Amino acid sequence: MGFSDKIAIVTGGSRGIGRAITLSLAKEGATVVLSYKSNIQAAEETVNLSKEFSGRVLAKQWDIGRFQETQDVIADVEKELGKVDILINNAGITSDNLFMRMKEEEWDKVIETNLKGAFNCCRAVIRGMVKRRFGRIINISSIVAESGNPGQANYCASKAGVIGLTRSLALELASRQITVNAVTPGFVATDMTDALTEEQKKLLISKIPMGRVADPNEIASLVTYLASEGASYISGQTIGVNGALFT
Ligand code: NAP
Repeated sequence: MGFSDKIAIVTGGSRGIGRAITLSLAKEGATVVLSYKSNIQAAEETVNLSKEFSGRVLAKQWDIGRFQETQDVIADVEKELGKVDILINNAGITSDNLFMRMKEEEWDKVIETNLKGAFNCCRAVIRGMVKRRFGRIINISSIVAESGNPGQANYCASKAGVIGLTRSLALELASRQITVNAVTPGFVATDMTDALTEEQKKLLISKIPMGRVADPNEIASLVTYLASEGASYISGQTIGVNGALFT
């Protein structure tokens, strides 16, 4: 897909969906900087897994929820690698609780990582993309941004915010040939969903028309396409990958 001259940042690229995206872009020849927050082992494992591919993967530890830290790290990446062509805002967390019991910290930390983290990373890469008249930004939202989910008011609000951010940025950046899209996965087999009980998983799967959860690669393949030159006229879209669960 012509990624050999492309530099990508994948936040939360060390595990789960982010790892699948990182490896898919590396397979296509991109240089990928994956970010992680604390699990260095997972990050190193992803770097090792990428070694069989033509692209190069570097791991950087930082907290995307912190504005200045994010500006500084991404400025260093631009200095080191020359530019950033592709930003995948993938890192995300949950901190579930029924709304009546939701603590201020539970609200704040989810919004800070999932929504402000995307803002922080976009702010850091956009100036360079505008200058070069090229950019691909893909924000990983969630099916629950549109459906809502009991016990996840903070998470759903953050993911709905990401869709609003996507649409506004797409409009602001369209004249510079920068595309901005959101992907809304359904239920994907990762550490995030592994935290659910077997009973909760069974119930969720029973509602999915395809009768199974997604493999992270099934999200990565769409993200890789949206990041490619071929997707140059797709912008401002929110695209579901959900086994026909919510269409
Ligand atoms: P995951 O397996 O839990 O991995 C999360 C990744 O994000 C890890 O690399 C983690 O780093 C990183 N991260 C978390 N907080 C961070 C921070 N403050 N700064 C930098 N990195 C941070 O997650 P996943 O299931 O692959 O989900 C990926 C994205 O898809 C998330 O945005 C999630 O909301 C969304 N999504 C997931 C599903 C699903 O069913 N799994 C469905 C819809 C949407 P460490 O390892 O260092 O903590």
